[in-house]
Amino acid sequence: MRFTNYKSIASAGRNKFDLASIRAIPMRAVAIDLGFGLTAGGTGRCRIPGHEDRNPSFSIRSATNRFTCYACGENGDVIDLVMKMRDISFVDACEWLTGRHLGGASVRPEMRQRPADREAAAKQPPIVPAKTEHAAAPDHEAFEWLLLVSKLSSSGYDYLASRGFSAETIAHFRVGQIGDRGEAMKTAVARFGLERLRRCGLVCDGKFGNRFVFPAGYLLFPFIIDGNIAYLQARRPDSGTQWRWLCPNSLLPPVFNRSALSDSTATISICEGVTDVISAHELGIPAIGLVGANARLDDTTLDLLRGRNVAIFGDRDTAGSRFARRLVDRLAGMGVTAIPKRLPLGANDLNDHLRRIKGIAA
Ligand SMILES: [Zn+2]
Repeated sequence: MRFTNYKSIASAGRNKFDLASIRAIPMRAVAIDLGFGLTAGGTGRCRIPGHEDRNPSFSIRSATNRFTCYACGENGDVIDLVMKMRDISFVDACEWLTGRHLGGASVRPEMRQRPADREAAAKQPPIVPAKTEHAAAPDHEAFEWLLLVSKLSSSGYDYLASRGFSAETIAHFRVGQIGDRGEAMKTAVARFGLERLRRCGLVCDGKFGNRFVFPAGYLLFPFIIDGNIAYLQARRPDSGTQWRWLCPNSLLPPVFNRSALSDSTATISICEGVTDVISAHELGIPAIGLVGANARLDDTTLDLLRGRNVAIFGDRDTAGSRFARRLVDRLAGMGVTAIPKRLPLGANDLNDHLRRIKGIAA
């Protein structure tokens, strides 16, 4: 961490703050206040100065109230985020957070906001702190049920075909599609109860009360680990860019398509995201995927990679080469040699490449 030298500068000032209360201000509220656009699951594009994030690499872990950017590597608590975003000192960040999110309550009178700051803060809408929730955990039964009742419609099928995926591939990955959002929520609540749906992230706080995290028409991609659905990622069934990917609230994605490691395939590829893994499969390349917001390999997956040849397909951009470099290093540390693969010229990712081969216009 780079913020170790503030101690001497701030030792006098930091005593004036209730650091425990400041650090407990919900990360989500602070990030939104700082201009981040976040999904229900707490991920979004990183806006930390110096990082132009193309994929949603910024992620909040509500259990620890910390943020991580899996592309630029920055991480920390709410104070760290404010320091980074506003380029201010530890003491100033504490002051800013106290003034905006704790109503100035935990600051001594002489440390209260300057009038100009107070005016600026008054112009902002009030921030409602998120309720503390039970630790989130996947719910195999609820996820399996949702996928079973969410049958792929012709619009979803057409969209997937436009990405170059065959009917066999679509069936292999068990892609589903949310029907009516309200109906899905109602039947899910009747079957599992609200608490259980909140715990597995399918229901979260919305503007008008409880909200089902996946909108109507969204495609559902199950992440299957040892035969159970451990995670569901949802994607818009069209080329719109807003809310392109949605995921369960507060759950971190495991590796996608880990069953590709269940046989003894000598060469395995690692891709960025769901679409590229499915593209790789369509191209006859066995692959697992790391989802942008959580580009990490768990220990079981690392064990399963040992003794194989590992190829890495990152996107053709700086985030993609960073993804590949970080994986090569991580795997080298575990004794696994991985080779970054170059995409054919003109293809930005594996899906581009697939569509070119199939003669589908991008
Ligand atoms: Zn970043």
